[in-house]
Amino acid sequence: MRYVSTRGMAPVLDFGEALLAGLADDGGLYVPEAWPVLGGGGRGDYVETAVEVMSPYVAGSVGVDDFGAMVADAYATFDTPDVVPMVELSDGMHLLELFHGPTLAFKDVALQLVGRLFDHELDRLGARVTIVGATSGDTGSAAIEACRDRDNMDVVILHPAGLVSDVQRRQMTTVTAPNVHNVAIEGTFDDCQDLVKAMFADVGFRDRVGLSAVNSINWARVMAQVVYYVVAAERLGGRRSPVAFAVPTGNFGNVFAGHVARSSGLAVPQLVVGSNTNDVLTQFFHDGTMRIDGVVPTTSPSMDIQVSSNLERLLFELLDRDGAAVAEHLDGFRATGSFHLDPVVHAALADGWAGARFEDDAVRRCIETEFGLSGVLLDPHSAVGVLAARACRQDPSVPMVALATAHPAKFPDAVAAATGVRPPLPEHLADLHERPESLTRLPNDLVVVEEFVEAHRRVV
Ligand SMILES: *Cc1c(COP(=O)(O)O)cnc(C)c1O
Repeated sequence: MRYVSTRGMAPVLDFGEALLAGLADDGGLYVPEAWPVLGGGGRGDYVETAVEVMSPYVAGSVGVDDFGAMVADAYATFDTPDVVPMVELSDGMHLLELFHGPTLAFKDVALQLVGRLFDHELDRLGARVTIVGATSGDTGSAAIEACRDRDNMDVVILHPAGLVSDVQRRQMTTVTAPNVHNVAIEGTFDDCQDLVKAMFADVGFRDRVGLSAVNSINWARVMAQVVYYVVAAERLGGRRSPVAFAVPTGNFGNVFAGHVARSSGLAVPQLVVGSNTNDVLTQFFHDGTMRIDGVVPTTSPSMDIQVSSNLERLLFELLDRDGAAVAEHLDGFRATGSFHLDPVVHAALADGWAGARFEDDAVRRCIETEFGLSGVLLDPHSAVGVLAARACRQDPSVPMVALATAHPAKFPDAVAAATGVRPPLPEHLADLHERPESLTRLPNDLVVVEEFVEAHRRVV
């Protein structure tokens, strides 16, 4: 499989190269040259289907046996053999629980595999990297769990001191792997992000430590997420039997994976994009205009986004894979803060896509109502998905699957406020509050942080 950039000006790469590159040289995102065609089989077994669905994407870069072992290993970290269990909320309305991984959020599904793929590719090349990231709470722990104990990777995660929740901080700082370093920056999340950007911009430093990231534009993350759409269909009647999906959306990586599954032949008549108050995406689906807007904090912080980076991959498809046209739209976006789809192109979006936005009070009522109906506790992100599923479902004879992206115990305050029930942490994290923490507090100072990274990465 070969990978091309959505802006058409970067070298064509194989899987391993696209994995390590992340962003393409021309600022675009890598996508496969062509969508593989899904076979008709599958019994709903996660690992078996995962290996089958992803094999065409890694062909030519990762050996069959190595890949099978990495997939099995990645999903053995989940707390159930189903990996992504599904429950029925009401008639034909299902909830696919993507939060059974080590950090209780759906990002584990992709990152547990991507960490292993990175390490494998680095091994092959005899190379090492230092992963640096900033977190406002949620993504840091998923990145740490993905990179911990990997031979060829060191990971340094910056969080704003005192500004992440106890559970979020402890999910990061209680990891005792020798290659994991938590830094509490005396500043805000934006300060942390600025430090990371400045480290990437410092070319000497970047090359010295082999700076890298496992961020959400990496193709391998999308690839790993295609699997659960296929598994859900298999469990509901087979790959050729129609299933609709509703997805609580931020960077558009998750729902784009659903589009990939559909492009490979899965029968998905409807993909529903659920937004919170920050609704640039649902606006885009309604009127074909992407605007830059301020971000309002909500009870679903992982969806509080200003720009959905993965939307570029859909744009590439909508514009018939014309990289120059994609670049033109995005240049216009950067210059003016908006871009418009051609009306004919926008009309094509009506087919198979829907979008809806929900404010926090609707989210709170949904958590309360669904708990009353079925006893299922939803976190606020998952509730946006369920609201979107119920609001936009077109055909009651087609099963609708809402994706649950976080465990309710990850957002206990919002869940307790809606239901009066405080969800307990699952067993593997039950003693989280007793575990010893390890972190270093540093000033918001680039020189000091760079010195810390250089001193703590392993040199072999
Ligand atoms: C990251 C995240 C999302 C958004 O997913 P995208 O792929 O960025 O659209 C939704 N819910 C939770 C809990 C997340 O962590």
